[in-house]
Amino acid sequence: MTEQKPFINEAVCEGCGDCGVKSNCVSIIPRETPFGRKRAIDQSSCNKDFSCVNGFCPSFVTVHGGTLRKPAGITSAPPELPAPEMPDLEEPYGIVITGIGGTGVVTIGALLGMAAHLEGKGASVLDQIGLAQKNGAVVSHVRIAKAPEAIHAVRIAAGGARLLLGCDIVTAGGPETLAKVRTDYTRAVVNCHETMIADFTQNPDLAFPEADLRAVITDSCGPEAAAFVDAGQLAAALMGDTIGTNLFMVGFAYQFGLLPLSADAIERAIEINGTAVEFNKQAFQWGRAAAHDLAAVEHAAGRDEHALEPETAESVIARRADELTAYHDEAYARRYTTLVERVRAAEAACLPRASALTDAVARAYFKLLAYKDEYEVARLYTDGRFAADLARQFDGDFRLTFHLAPPLFGRRDPETGQLIKQEYGGSVMAAFRLLSRLKGLRGTPFDPFAHTAERRAERRLIGAYEDTVAALLASLTPENHAIACEIAALPLSIRGFGHVKEASIAEAEAREAELMRAFHHPAPTADAAE
Ligand code: SF4
Repeated sequence: MTEQKPFINEAVCEGCGDCGVKSNCVSIIPRETPFGRKRAIDQSSCNKDFSCVNGFCPSFVTVHGGTLRKPAGITSAPPELPAPEMPDLEEPYGIVITGIGGTGVVTIGALLGMAAHLEGKGASVLDQIGLAQKNGAVVSHVRIAKAPEAIHAVRIAAGGARLLLGCDIVTAGGPETLAKVRTDYTRAVVNCHETMIADFTQNPDLAFPEADLRAVITDSCGPEAAAFVDAGQLAAALMGDTIGTNLFMVGFAYQFGLLPLSADAIERAIEINGTAVEFNKQAFQWGRAAAHDLAAVEHAAGRDEHALEPETAESVIARRADELTAYHDEAYARRYTTLVERVRAAEAACLPRASALTDAVARAYFKLLAYKDEYEVARLYTDGRFAADLARQFDGDFRLTFHLAPPLFGRRDPETGQLIKQEYGGSVMAAFRLLSRLKGLRGTPFDPFAHTAERRAERRLIGAYEDTVAALLASLTPENHAIACEIAALPLSIRGFGHVKEASIAEAEAREAELMRAFHHPAPTADAAE
Protein backbone atom coordinates (compact mmCIF):
# COMPACT_ATOMS: atom_id res chain seq x y z
CA MET A 1 0.00 0.00 0.00
CA THR A 2 1.24 3.47 -0.81
CA GLU A 3 2.58 5.19 2.24
CA GLN A 4 0.56 8.15 3.45
CA LYS A 5 1.64 11.09 5.57
CA PRO A 6 -0.29 14.02 7.00
CA PHE A 7 0.95 17.50 6.19
CA ILE A 8 -0.18 20.93 7.35
CA ASN A 9 -0.36 23.98 5.11
CA GLU A 10 1.30 26.36 7.54
CA ALA A 11 -0.14 29.49 5.95
CA VAL A 12 -3.72 28.21 6.27
CA CYS A 13 -3.20 27.02 9.85
CA GLU A 14 -4.68 29.33 12.45
CA GLY A 15 -2.91 27.79 15.44
CA CYS A 16 -6.25 27.04 17.09
CA GLY A 17 -5.04 23.71 18.50
CA ASP A 18 -8.15 21.74 17.52
CA CYS A 19 -5.95 19.10 15.85
CA GLY A 20 -4.16 18.60 19.19
CA VAL A 21 -7.45 18.27 21.04
CA LYS A 22 -8.74 15.75 18.49
CA SER A 23 -5.55 13.65 18.35
CA ASN A 24 -3.77 14.24 21.67
CA CYS A 25 -0.60 13.80 19.65
CA VAL A 26 2.68 15.62 20.28
CA SER A 27 3.91 14.92 16.78
CA ILE A 28 1.89 18.04 16.05
CA ILE A 29 4.56 20.53 16.93
CA PRO A 30 4.37 24.28 17.32
CA ARG A 31 5.88 26.25 14.48
CA GLU A 32 6.62 29.86 15.37
CA THR A 33 6.12 32.09 12.32
CA PRO A 34 6.01 35.84 11.69
CA PHE A 35 2.22 35.46 11.78
CA GLY A 36 2.16 33.72 15.14
CA ARG A 37 2.33 30.15 16.31
CA LYS A 38 1.18 27.59 13.77
CA ARG A 39 1.43 23.81 13.61
CA ALA A 40 3.56 21.34 11.72
CA ILE A 41 3.84 17.55 11.77
CA ASP A 42 7.06 16.09 13.10
CA GLN A 43 7.38 13.44 10.39
CA SER A 44 10.17 11.64 12.32
CA SER A 45 7.88 10.78 15.22
CA CYS A 46 4.45 10.73 13.49
CA ASN A 47 2.75 7.37 14.10
CA LYS A 48 0.42 7.97 11.13
CA ASP A 49 -2.85 7.31 12.89
CA PHE A 50 -4.21 10.41 11.10
CA SER A 51 -6.32 11.45 14.06
CA CYS A 52 -4.90 14.99 13.71
CA VAL A 53 -6.62 15.33 10.34
CA ASN A 54 -9.90 15.56 12.26
CA GLY A 55 -8.87 19.01 13.48
CA PHE A 56 -11.57 21.26 12.04
CA CYS A 57 -9.69 23.26 9.43
CA PRO A 58 -8.72 23.09 5.76
CA SER A 59 -4.96 23.04 6.56
CA PHE A 60 -4.47 19.28 6.39
CA VAL A 61 -3.57 17.32 3.32
CA THR A 62 -2.59 13.68 3.03
CA VAL A 63 0.49 13.01 0.97
CA HIS A 64 0.24 9.64 -0.81
CA GLY A 65 3.54 8.17 -1.96
CA GLY A 66 6.79 10.05 -2.35
CA THR A 67 9.52 9.91 0.23
CA LEU A 68 10.48 12.23 3.02
CA ARG A 69 13.21 14.52 1.84
CA LYS A 70 15.76 14.46 4.61
CA PRO A 71 17.85 17.50 5.28
CA ALA A 72 21.14 16.90 3.52
CA GLY A 73 22.92 16.33 6.81
CA ILE A 74 26.64 16.86 7.07
CA THR A 75 28.77 14.94 4.65
CA SER A 76 31.96 15.06 6.75
CA ALA A 77 32.42 12.30 9.32
CA PRO A 78 32.50 13.10 13.03
CA PRO A 79 36.07 13.48 14.34
CA GLU A 80 38.05 10.60 15.89
CA LEU A 81 38.21 11.11 19.64
CA PRO A 82 40.19 9.61 22.49
CA ALA A 83 38.27 7.26 24.79
CA PRO A 84 37.34 8.88 28.10
CA GLU A 85 38.07 7.35 31.46
CA MET A 86 35.23 5.04 32.48
CA PRO A 87 33.41 5.33 35.79
CA ASP A 88 34.32 2.70 38.39
CA LEU A 89 32.13 -0.34 38.95
CA GLU A 90 32.86 -0.89 42.64
CA GLU A 91 29.11 -1.03 43.05
CA PRO A 92 26.40 -1.51 40.37
CA TYR A 93 26.11 1.60 38.22
CA GLY A 94 22.54 2.89 37.96
CA ILE A 95 21.39 4.74 34.84
CA VAL A 96 17.95 6.26 34.53
CA ILE A 97 17.02 6.90 30.90
CA THR A 98 13.98 9.04 30.24
CA GLY A 99 12.23 9.98 27.04
CA ILE A 100 9.01 10.03 25.10
CA GLY A 101 7.23 6.88 24.00
CA GLY A 102 7.71 5.92 20.40
CA THR A 103 11.11 7.63 20.01
CA GLY A 104 13.31 4.62 20.70
CA VAL A 105 14.12 5.19 24.38
CA VAL A 106 13.54 1.52 25.18
CA THR A 107 16.06 0.60 22.47
CA ILE A 108 18.73 2.67 24.22
CA GLY A 109 18.34 0.66 27.43
CA ALA A 110 18.52 -2.58 25.45
CA LEU A 111 21.66 -1.43 23.60
CA LEU A 112 23.45 -0.55 26.84
CA GLY A 113 22.41 -3.90 28.33
CA MET A 114 23.75 -5.71 25.24
CA ALA A 115 27.02 -3.72 25.32
CA ALA A 116 27.51 -4.71 28.96
CA HIS A 117 26.81 -8.34 28.11
CA LEU A 118 29.37 -8.23 25.28
CA GLU A 119 31.99 -7.06 27.76
CA GLY A 120 31.14 -9.87 30.19
CA LYS A 121 29.59 -7.43 32.65
CA GLY A 122 26.32 -7.81 34.46
CA ALA A 123 23.34 -5.76 33.33
CA SER A 124 19.64 -5.43 34.05
CA VAL A 125 17.11 -3.32 32.19
CA LEU A 126 13.69 -2.42 33.49
CA ASP A 127 11.38 -0.37 31.27
CA GLN A 128 8.49 1.61 32.67
CA ILE A 129 6.39 2.48 29.69
CA GLY A 130 3.56 4.98 29.89
CA LEU A 131 1.55 5.79 26.79
CA ALA A 132 4.45 4.65 24.64
CA GLN A 133 2.69 5.11 21.32
CA LYS A 134 1.16 8.41 22.29
CA ASN A 135 3.82 10.59 23.79
CA GLY A 136 3.78 9.17 27.28
CA ALA A 137 6.88 9.20 29.44
CA VAL A 138 9.15 6.19 29.16
CA VAL A 139 11.71 5.49 31.88
CA SER A 140 14.30 2.74 31.68
CA HIS A 141 16.28 1.64 34.73
CA VAL A 142 19.61 0.20 33.59
CA ARG A 143 22.06 -1.28 36.08
CA ILE A 144 25.54 -2.32 35.04
CA ALA A 145 27.94 -4.24 37.29
CA LYS A 146 31.34 -5.91 37.08
CA ALA A 147 29.66 -9.31 36.81
CA PRO A 148 26.07 -10.60 36.46
CA GLU A 149 25.99 -11.91 40.05
CA ALA A 150 26.69 -8.41 41.42
CA ILE A 151 23.21 -7.24 40.40
CA HIS A 152 20.64 -7.86 43.12
CA ALA A 153 17.90 -5.39 42.20
CA VAL A 154 16.73 -4.13 38.84
CA ARG A 155 14.84 -1.05 39.95
CA ILE A 156 16.91 2.00 40.80
CA ALA A 157 16.04 3.21 44.26
CA ALA A 158 15.42 6.82 45.28
CA GLY A 159 18.66 8.77 44.93
CA GLY A 160 20.35 5.72 43.36
CA ALA A 161 21.05 6.94 39.82
CA ARG A 162 24.68 7.64 38.98
CA LEU A 163 23.57 8.93 35.57
CA LEU A 164 20.38 10.57 34.41
CA LEU A 165 20.33 10.19 30.64
CA GLY A 166 17.54 12.55 29.66
CA CYS A 167 16.58 12.02 26.02
CA ASP A 168 13.82 14.55 26.63
CA ILE A 169 14.02 17.41 29.11
CA VAL A 170 10.37 17.31 30.16
CA THR A 171 10.47 13.70 31.27
CA ALA A 172 13.95 14.23 32.77
CA GLY A 173 12.64 17.10 34.90
CA GLY A 174 9.58 15.24 36.17
CA PRO A 175 9.26 14.54 39.90
CA GLU A 176 9.43 10.76 39.50
CA THR A 177 12.70 10.98 37.59
CA LEU A 178 14.24 13.49 39.95
CA ALA A 179 13.42 11.24 42.90
CA LYS A 180 16.10 8.92 41.50
CA VAL A 181 18.89 11.53 41.55
CA ARG A 182 21.04 12.82 44.38
CA THR A 183 23.15 15.93 44.75
CA ASP A 184 26.91 15.29 44.44
CA TYR A 185 26.24 11.71 43.31
CA THR A 186 24.22 11.85 40.08
CA ARG A 187 25.43 13.36 36.83
CA ALA A 188 22.80 14.39 34.29
CA VAL A 189 23.06 14.79 30.52
CA VAL A 190 19.87 16.12 29.05
CA ASN A 191 18.52 16.83 25.59
CA CYS A 192 16.95 20.29 25.94
CA HIS A 193 15.28 20.23 22.52
CA GLU A 194 11.76 21.62 22.68
CA THR A 195 9.55 18.60 22.31
CA MET A 196 6.18 19.84 23.36
CA ILE A 197 4.63 18.05 26.26
CA ALA A 198 1.21 16.43 26.03
CA ASP A 199 -0.36 19.49 27.75
CA PHE A 200 0.37 21.44 24.57
CA THR A 201 -2.23 19.39 22.76
CA GLN A 202 -4.85 20.90 25.05
CA ASN A 203 -3.30 24.35 25.52
CA PRO A 204 -2.17 25.77 22.18
CA ASP A 205 -0.47 28.82 23.76
CA LEU A 206 1.62 26.86 26.23
CA ALA A 207 5.18 28.19 26.48
CA PHE A 208 7.88 25.53 26.61
CA PRO A 209 9.15 25.53 30.22
CA GLU A 210 12.83 24.95 29.38
CA ALA A 211 14.32 27.42 31.88
CA ASP A 212 12.30 25.96 34.76
CA LEU A 213 13.21 22.41 33.79
CA ARG A 214 16.92 23.21 33.54
CA ALA A 215 16.76 24.86 36.95
CA VAL A 216 15.02 21.96 38.67
CA ILE A 217 17.41 19.37 37.16
CA THR A 218 20.46 21.44 38.06
CA ASP A 219 19.16 22.00 41.60
CA SER A 220 18.60 18.28 42.04
CA CYS A 221 22.00 17.11 40.81
CA GLY A 222 24.19 20.05 41.77
CA PRO A 223 25.37 23.08 39.78
CA GLU A 224 28.30 21.35 38.01
CA ALA A 225 26.60 18.01 37.53
CA ALA A 226 24.14 18.69 34.72
CA ALA A 227 24.94 19.23 31.02
CA PHE A 228 22.34 20.24 28.46
CA VAL A 229 22.51 19.98 24.69
CA ASP A 230 19.92 20.52 21.96
CA ALA A 231 20.42 17.00 20.65
CA GLY A 232 17.17 17.08 18.67
CA GLN A 233 18.21 20.07 16.61
CA LEU A 234 21.80 18.89 16.21
CA ALA A 235 20.80 15.36 15.22
CA ALA A 236 18.36 16.73 12.63
CA ALA A 237 20.98 19.07 11.18
CA LEU A 238 23.87 16.60 11.28
CA MET A 239 22.07 13.38 10.48
CA GLY A 240 19.00 14.62 8.63
CA ASP A 241 16.56 13.03 11.12
CA THR A 242 15.63 13.61 14.76
CA ILE A 243 15.47 9.83 15.19
CA GLY A 244 19.23 9.95 15.81
CA THR A 245 18.66 12.03 18.96
CA ASN A 246 18.81 9.24 21.54
CA LEU A 247 22.03 7.68 20.28
CA PHE A 248 23.49 11.16 20.06
CA MET A 249 22.71 11.45 23.78
CA VAL A 250 24.39 8.09 24.46
CA GLY A 251 27.53 9.38 22.71
CA PHE A 252 27.31 12.63 24.67
CA ALA A 253 27.15 10.74 27.97
CA TYR A 254 29.88 8.31 26.90
CA GLN A 255 32.42 11.01 26.01
CA PHE A 256 31.87 12.69 29.39
CA GLY A 257 33.01 9.39 30.93
CA LEU A 258 29.56 8.64 32.31
CA LEU A 259 29.05 5.15 30.84
CA PRO A 260 30.96 2.15 32.22
CA LEU A 261 31.16 0.67 28.72
CA SER A 262 33.59 0.89 25.84
CA ALA A 263 32.74 2.59 22.54
CA ASP A 264 33.55 -0.69 20.78
CA ALA A 265 30.95 -2.57 22.82
CA ILE A 266 28.30 0.11 22.25
CA GLU A 267 28.98 0.12 18.51
CA ARG A 268 28.93 -3.69 18.41
CA ALA A 269 25.55 -3.61 20.19
CA ILE A 270 24.30 -1.19 17.53
CA GLU A 271 25.43 -3.66 14.86
CA ILE A 272 23.70 -6.58 16.58
CA ASN A 273 20.50 -4.52 16.87
CA GLY A 274 20.73 -4.36 13.09
CA THR A 275 18.58 -1.28 12.47
CA ALA A 276 20.09 1.69 10.61
CA VAL A 277 23.52 0.60 11.78
CA GLU A 278 25.67 3.24 10.09
CA PHE A 279 23.20 6.00 10.89
CA ASN A 280 23.09 5.06 14.57
CA LYS A 281 26.86 4.75 14.83
CA GLN A 282 27.21 8.21 13.33
CA ALA A 283 24.67 9.60 15.79
CA PHE A 284 26.70 8.07 18.64
CA GLN A 285 29.89 9.58 17.27
CA TRP A 286 28.39 13.03 16.77
CA GLY A 287 27.15 12.91 20.37
CA ARG A 288 30.71 12.12 21.48
CA ALA A 289 32.00 15.01 19.40
CA ALA A 290 29.45 17.38 20.97
CA ALA A 291 30.65 16.45 24.46
CA HIS A 292 34.23 17.05 23.35
CA ASP A 293 33.68 20.40 21.60
CA LEU A 294 30.07 21.56 21.51
CA ALA A 295 30.82 24.86 19.77
CA ALA A 296 32.53 23.06 16.88
CA VAL A 297 29.62 20.66 16.44
CA GLU A 298 27.09 23.50 16.59
CA HIS A 299 29.11 25.32 13.98
CA ALA A 300 29.16 22.21 11.78
CA ALA A 301 25.39 21.89 12.15
CA GLY A 302 24.70 25.49 11.05
CA ARG A 303 21.77 27.61 12.16
CA ASP A 304 18.22 26.44 12.73
CA GLU A 305 16.45 27.27 9.46
CA HIS A 306 13.31 28.17 11.38
CA ALA A 307 14.93 30.67 13.76
CA LEU A 308 13.07 33.93 13.39
CA GLU A 309 14.76 37.26 12.87
CA PRO A 310 13.78 39.83 15.51
CA GLU A 311 11.10 42.15 14.14
CA THR A 312 10.72 45.92 14.40
CA ALA A 313 7.37 47.74 14.55
CA GLU A 314 7.94 48.78 10.93
CA SER A 315 8.60 45.24 9.73
CA VAL A 316 5.53 43.89 11.57
CA ILE A 317 3.32 46.48 9.87
CA ALA A 318 4.97 46.31 6.42
CA ARG A 319 4.80 42.50 6.28
CA ARG A 320 1.09 42.59 7.06
CA ALA A 321 0.33 45.43 4.66
CA ASP A 322 1.98 43.43 1.85
CA GLU A 323 -0.01 40.37 2.81
CA LEU A 324 -3.28 42.32 2.79
CA THR A 325 -2.49 43.68 -0.68
CA ALA A 326 -2.12 40.08 -1.85
CA TYR A 327 -5.18 39.09 0.17
CA HIS A 328 -7.47 41.62 -1.52
CA ASP A 329 -5.96 44.85 -2.88
CA GLU A 330 -3.99 47.97 -2.01
CA ALA A 331 -7.01 49.85 -0.73
CA TYR A 332 -7.64 47.06 1.76
CA ALA A 333 -4.01 47.29 2.93
CA ARG A 334 -4.38 51.07 3.26
CA ARG A 335 -7.41 50.63 5.50
CA TYR A 336 -5.06 48.62 7.74
CA THR A 337 -2.10 51.00 7.76
CA THR A 338 -4.33 54.03 8.31
CA LEU A 339 -5.74 52.67 11.55
CA VAL A 340 -2.38 51.37 12.78
CA GLU A 341 -0.73 54.76 12.16
CA ARG A 342 -3.56 56.49 14.03
CA VAL A 343 -2.92 54.23 17.00
CA ARG A 344 0.81 54.83 16.80
CA ALA A 345 0.32 58.61 16.94
CA ALA A 346 -2.16 58.43 19.82
CA GLU A 347 0.04 56.08 21.82
CA ALA A 348 3.10 58.30 21.31
CA ALA A 349 1.12 61.30 22.52
CA CYS A 350 -0.03 59.42 25.63
CA LEU A 351 3.16 57.53 26.51
CA PRO A 352 6.07 58.65 24.31
CA ARG A 353 8.23 55.53 24.79
CA ALA A 354 5.46 52.91 24.60
CA SER A 355 4.67 50.82 21.53
CA ALA A 356 2.74 47.85 22.92
CA LEU A 357 -0.65 49.18 21.85
CA THR A 358 0.53 49.82 18.29
CA ASP A 359 2.01 46.32 18.17
CA ALA A 360 -1.20 44.74 19.49
CA VAL A 361 -3.34 46.57 16.93
CA ALA A 362 -0.88 45.86 14.10
CA ARG A 363 -1.15 42.13 14.76
CA ALA A 364 -4.78 41.82 15.84
CA TYR A 365 -6.35 44.10 13.21
CA PHE A 366 -4.46 42.18 10.53
CA LYS A 367 -5.76 38.91 11.95
CA LEU A 368 -9.34 40.13 11.59
CA LEU A 369 -8.89 41.67 8.14
CA ALA A 370 -7.17 38.57 6.74
CA TYR A 371 -9.98 36.20 7.68
CA LYS A 372 -9.57 32.93 5.83
CA ASP A 373 -12.56 32.70 3.56
CA GLU A 374 -12.76 30.46 0.50
CA TYR A 375 -10.75 32.88 -1.67
CA GLU A 376 -8.00 33.22 0.90
CA VAL A 377 -7.66 29.50 1.60
CA ALA A 378 -7.47 29.02 -2.16
CA ARG A 379 -4.77 31.70 -2.45
CA LEU A 380 -2.76 30.17 0.39
CA TYR A 381 -2.76 26.84 -1.42
CA THR A 382 -1.79 28.26 -4.80
CA ASP A 383 0.54 31.23 -4.25
CA GLY A 384 3.63 29.02 -4.30
CA ARG A 385 4.36 28.77 -0.56
CA PHE A 386 2.48 25.51 -0.07
CA ALA A 387 4.18 23.92 -3.10
CA ALA A 388 7.58 25.08 -1.85
CA ASP A 389 6.91 23.72 1.66
CA LEU A 390 5.84 20.37 0.22
CA ALA A 391 8.90 20.23 -2.02
CA ARG A 392 11.13 20.94 0.99
CA GLN A 393 9.72 17.92 2.81
CA PHE A 394 8.78 15.40 0.11
CA ASP A 395 10.57 13.92 -2.83
CA GLY A 396 9.51 11.70 -5.72
CA ASP A 397 6.03 11.08 -7.08
CA PHE A 398 3.18 11.80 -4.72
CA ARG A 399 -0.40 12.86 -4.91
CA LEU A 400 -2.51 14.81 -2.44
CA THR A 401 -5.90 14.49 -0.90
CA PHE A 402 -7.51 17.42 0.91
CA HIS A 403 -9.69 17.35 4.01
CA LEU A 404 -12.29 20.07 3.66
CA ALA A 405 -15.69 21.06 4.95
CA PRO A 406 -16.89 23.76 2.55
CA PRO A 407 -19.77 25.64 4.23
CA LEU A 408 -21.83 25.86 1.03
CA PHE A 409 -21.60 22.24 -0.05
CA GLY A 410 -20.38 20.31 2.98
CA ARG A 411 -22.42 17.70 4.87
CA ARG A 412 -23.46 18.49 8.43
CA ASP A 413 -23.63 16.28 11.46
CA PRO A 414 -27.37 15.79 12.06
CA GLU A 415 -26.90 15.99 15.84
CA THR A 416 -24.52 18.92 16.26
CA GLY A 417 -25.22 20.74 13.00
CA GLN A 418 -21.47 21.04 12.58
CA LEU A 419 -19.92 20.63 9.16
CA ILE A 420 -18.25 17.29 8.50
CA LYS A 421 -14.85 17.20 6.84
CA GLN A 422 -14.68 15.14 3.66
CA GLU A 423 -11.83 13.96 1.50
CA TYR A 424 -11.30 15.57 -1.89
CA GLY A 425 -8.80 14.58 -4.59
CA GLY A 426 -6.06 16.56 -6.26
CA SER A 427 -8.50 18.29 -8.66
CA VAL A 428 -9.22 20.63 -5.74
CA MET A 429 -6.05 22.50 -6.71
CA ALA A 430 -7.64 23.52 -10.02
CA ALA A 431 -10.69 24.79 -8.11
CA PHE A 432 -8.39 26.67 -5.72
CA ARG A 433 -6.59 28.33 -8.62
CA LEU A 434 -9.89 29.52 -10.05
CA LEU A 435 -11.21 30.68 -6.69
CA SER A 436 -8.08 32.62 -5.83
CA ARG A 437 -8.49 34.58 -9.07
CA LEU A 438 -12.05 35.47 -8.07
CA LYS A 439 -11.07 37.17 -4.80
CA GLY A 440 -12.31 40.51 -6.23
CA LEU A 441 -15.84 39.17 -5.64
CA ARG A 442 -15.21 39.10 -1.90
CA GLY A 443 -17.93 40.98 -0.06
CA THR A 444 -19.72 42.10 -3.25
CA PRO A 445 -23.33 41.17 -4.11
CA PHE A 446 -21.87 38.53 -6.45
CA ASP A 447 -19.95 36.77 -3.70
CA PRO A 448 -21.67 33.37 -3.28
CA PHE A 449 -19.95 32.80 0.07
CA ALA A 450 -20.66 36.19 1.64
CA HIS A 451 -23.92 35.22 3.30
CA THR A 452 -22.82 32.30 5.42
CA ALA A 453 -22.94 32.96 9.17
CA GLU A 454 -19.16 32.59 9.43
CA ARG A 455 -18.41 35.22 6.80
CA ARG A 456 -20.98 37.62 8.22
CA ALA A 457 -19.44 37.23 11.69
CA GLU A 458 -15.96 37.87 10.30
CA ARG A 459 -17.02 41.11 8.63
CA ARG A 460 -18.91 42.20 11.75
CA LEU A 461 -15.78 41.64 13.84
CA ILE A 462 -13.73 43.98 11.66
CA GLY A 463 -16.18 46.85 12.09
CA ALA A 464 -16.55 46.16 15.81
CA TYR A 465 -12.78 46.19 16.25
CA GLU A 466 -12.44 49.52 14.49
CA ASP A 467 -15.06 50.93 16.88
CA THR A 468 -13.29 49.39 19.87
CA VAL A 469 -9.95 50.90 18.88
CA ALA A 470 -11.59 54.28 18.40
CA ALA A 471 -13.07 54.02 21.90
CA LEU A 472 -9.70 53.04 23.36
CA LEU A 473 -7.92 55.96 21.73
CA ALA A 474 -10.59 58.42 22.84
CA SER A 475 -10.01 57.57 26.52
CA LEU A 476 -6.39 56.39 26.53
CA THR A 477 -4.36 57.39 29.59
CA PRO A 478 -1.07 56.13 31.05
CA GLU A 479 -3.17 54.38 33.75
CA ASN A 480 -5.38 52.38 31.40
CA HIS A 481 -2.75 51.80 28.69
CA ALA A 482 -2.00 48.21 29.82
CA ILE A 483 -5.68 47.25 29.73
CA ALA A 484 -6.03 48.90 26.32
CA CYS A 485 -3.22 46.66 25.04
CA GLU A 486 -4.97 43.59 26.38
CA ILE A 487 -8.25 44.56 24.74
CA ALA A 488 -6.55 45.42 21.46
CA ALA A 489 -4.83 42.02 21.35
CA LEU A 490 -7.99 39.99 21.99
CA PRO A 491 -8.64 39.11 18.32
CA LEU A 492 -5.41 37.11 18.35
CA SER A 493 -7.29 34.58 20.45
CA ILE A 494 -9.98 34.27 17.76
CA ARG A 495 -8.69 31.31 15.80
CA GLY A 496 -9.76 28.34 13.78
CA PHE A 497 -12.61 27.66 11.43
CA GLY A 498 -16.34 26.98 11.70
CA HIS A 499 -17.56 25.98 15.14
CA VAL A 500 -14.02 26.24 16.61
CA LYS A 501 -13.79 29.87 15.57
CA GLU A 502 -17.35 30.54 16.70
CA ALA A 503 -16.49 29.36 20.22
CA SER A 504 -13.36 31.50 20.33
CA ILE A 505 -15.33 34.57 19.20
CA ALA A 506 -17.78 34.10 22.06
CA GLU A 507 -14.93 33.83 24.57
CA ALA A 508 -13.11 36.86 23.21
CA GLU A 509 -16.26 38.98 23.25
CA ALA A 510 -17.05 38.03 26.84
CA ARG A 511 -13.50 38.91 27.87
CA GLU A 512 -13.67 42.20 26.00
CA ALA A 513 -16.82 43.23 27.88
CA GLU A 514 -15.04 42.58 31.19
CA LEU A 515 -11.89 44.41 30.18
CA MET A 516 -13.81 47.38 28.83
CA ARG A 517 -15.34 47.92 32.25
CA ALA A 518 -11.86 47.90 33.78
CA PHE A 519 -10.58 50.21 31.04
CA HIS A 520 -13.13 52.88 31.82
CA HIS A 521 -12.75 52.44 35.60
CA PRO A 522 -9.12 51.39 36.21
CA ALA A 523 -8.24 50.38 39.77
CA PRO A 524 -6.25 53.15 41.46
CA THR A 525 -2.51 52.48 41.38
CA ALA A 526 -0.34 52.76 44.52
CA ASP A 527 1.06 56.07 43.23
CA ALA A 528 -2.38 57.49 42.55
CA ALA A 529 -3.55 56.54 46.02
CA GLU A 530 -0.70 58.38 47.76
S1 SF4 B 1 -5.87 25.47 12.13
FE1 SF4 B 1 -6.08 24.55 14.15
S2 SF4 B 1 -6.74 22.45 13.73
FE2 SF4 B 1 -5.89 23.25 11.81
S3 SF4 B 1 -3.73 22.63 11.78
FE3 SF4 B 1 -3.81 24.67 12.64
S4 SF4 B 1 -3.92 24.34 14.86
FE4 SF4 B 1 -4.47 22.38 13.88
